[in-house]
Amino acid sequence: MAEPKVFIKTYGCQMNELDSEFILGDLLARGFRRAENESEADVVLLNTCCVREMPERKAFGKMGLLGEMKRDNPNLILGLCGCMAQKRKETLFKQMPFLDIVCGPSQIGQLAEMVVSVQRTRTRQIRIEEDAAGRLDFRKASRRSAIKAFVSIMHGCDNYCSYCVVPYVRGREQSRPPEQILAEIEDLAGRGYKEVTLLGQNVNSYGKGFAASYDLVDLLEQVNQIPGIERIRFVTSHPKDISLRLMEAMARLEKVCEHLHFPLQSGADRILQLMNRGYALADYVRLVDALRAVMPDIALGTDIIVGFPTETEEDFRDTLEAMRRIEYDSAFIFKYSTREGTAAARLPDDVPPEKKKERNQELLELQEEISLRRNRRWIGQEVEVLVEGPSKRNPDKMMGRTRQNHIAVFDGGTELAGSLARVTVVRATALTLFGELAQRGDASPGRALAHRRRQLRPMRRTYNPK
Ligand code: SF4
Repeated sequence: MAEPKVFIKTYGCQMNELDSEFILGDLLARGFRRAENESEADVVLLNTCCVREMPERKAFGKMGLLGEMKRDNPNLILGLCGCMAQKRKETLFKQMPFLDIVCGPSQIGQLAEMVVSVQRTRTRQIRIEEDAAGRLDFRKASRRSAIKAFVSIMHGCDNYCSYCVVPYVRGREQSRPPEQILAEIEDLAGRGYKEVTLLGQNVNSYGKGFAASYDLVDLLEQVNQIPGIERIRFVTSHPKDISLRLMEAMARLEKVCEHLHFPLQSGADRILQLMNRGYALADYVRLVDALRAVMPDIALGTDIIVGFPTETEEDFRDTLEAMRRIEYDSAFIFKYSTREGTAAARLPDDVPPEKKKERNQELLELQEEISLRRNRRWIGQEVEVLVEGPSKRNPDKMMGRTRQNHIAVFDGGTELAGSLARVTVVRATALTLFGELAQRGDASPGRALAHRRRQLRPMRRTYNPK
């Protein structure tokens, strides 16, 4: 009998992408094969997100369509995992009687077994306890890229931003032990990976709760020493928890990229307070100035929510002004949607949808203008590009990312894939740098660039749990 095929569709953040890579790897190890699409699959899993209304609606819609497919193919196994599963629990079986599996994000280590169990017994499975995610061995993950990988360093969140459902569905903050993380990265390096992105809801508080004093800086120090790894990124950074020590480490450690996703959320202090973000705009701007002082070439990204309850025109103008002042390289702009169970859900969702749309559009247009201006500063400069492969839009050209995380497209052969190349930027749009190959792969020029400005003394600590 042919091996059963599995298709996983992922919604939401990088953490969900990594979880999906783990689930797929676990199923492949049990003899399943990857399906290219849902119509050729025997098992379809939706790894869901409920942080915003839109991905939740999309997952519902998708599962409805899959339910119709199941009418023609009653053996099709359908599972819903991730945050939506945790939030809605067994009610999902009532809403979607064709569903076989409901699995919360802490239980994805059990998911492959649940699939096998449904195959054997044809009985529904549900696992929504909040534990165990820290013990997952991500070395099993079936990675989408052979060059860059996500590495989970912590789970959950203790921040309770008033609009956010994550602490309720992903649980309390838990840091993974550094030895587990380092072993995973050494394994990735041994398999030729060049870039790692350390993932957590709030990586700046990594290490909270450890018996020994060990934090994100200590972890970055150790990852920076792993041979073969050329680039380190980390996401997401909560502004209230970033330290000068971390900024100095970013500037000093040559493998840590000059890129930070640093969500502001709103430029109005009143709204920031209602959001329970723990900082005012002036504090945030001071941090941005400090980051740019130690790393003048750092690229900053942000998340902004428009139409938060009670947001006035004046509040919105404050956000516009903040974005003009800060000049992000990139920004994700979201329209507020009420998330049941959060503190903000008790406030009136009183900004009309049309107004939210208008504000969203205005910020998008402003950001496009700023991104274009900032990207044009790179014209004429040589940048380091980690080459990923042929460009999707123009397969005759190669594409990769700069250390600042800009997409770069340039003339070059497929033999460059996986290497670090030097590219001279000749043109820029708001989203992409276009260039010409200046030097072929693995010159590791980022280090030369990095060493030019990194004269700070190391503050190294190694993990000692005793
Ligand atoms: S830091 Fe705030 S926005 Fe981010 S996951 Fe935690 S509660 Fe949600």
